[in-house]
Amino acid sequence: MSYKLSVLIIEDEKNISSFICTTLTNQGYKVLKAATGKEGLSLLTSQCPDILLLDLGLPDMDGICLLKEVRTWSELPILVISARIQENEKVQALDMGADDYITKPFGTKELLARIRTAIRHSKRLNFDPKFVQKPYHALDLTIDFEKRRVLLKEKEIHLTAVEFKLVSLLAQQSGKVLTYDYIITQIWGPYADKNNRILRVNMANIRRKLEVNPAEPVYIFTEIGIGYRMIEDKLS
Ligand code: CA
Repeated sequence: MSYKLSVLIIEDEKNISSFICTTLTNQGYKVLKAATGKEGLSLLTSQCPDILLLDLGLPDMDGICLLKEVRTWSELPILVISARIQENEKVQALDMGADDYITKPFGTKELLARIRTAIRHSKRLNFDPKFVQKPYHALDLTIDFEKRRVLLKEKEIHLTAVEFKLVSLLAQQSGKVLTYDYIITQIWGPYADKNNRILRVNMANIRRKLEVNPAEPVYIFTEIGIGYRMIEDKLS
């Protein structure tokens, strides 16, 4: 199953935000909107969007500071939108880890092209370059990262967006123990509640879907007190 790519827009100008929202919704994206940096950070950590469109001039904080902050823990594609045209700000935004820069006013076509490119270049799921194109295989399980599909004995498994991200994170570093804190930070960001409840709940759901006997897992193992480890990719 593929799910809708979600886009978070942090932009205080209502007409621009609405224009982007309408354009992207029509194209099948799921859109989340925030008018302040604070609201944006909160949506970013709770909703795990696939791409961020960030205005540099926000009422409550400098967009560059927000960008810098997000890049300390997330590699999601960030497209900066701003009315400012100074070269130094573009460079600063890119230096801080923005994937691209789009200057207001911009048209639908330009916006969509930039988003597609940013997503294609996204390293979000590509923790190791050798896995970029290659699906994960182990026992009866196949994960196609590009097509966002999970197959068990050739049968498609339906995962939620967060479950898919979790499985992908583990699969792309299969064989390695990933700590609870690392996983939580990668999926939900550093502001997420560090008690592992939400992770455990998601993992239990994943196991119910993947494992014949969730109490004796063969794909994702619990390293008690440390984290989780996924069975190593047979091709790696
Ligand atoms: Ca603004």
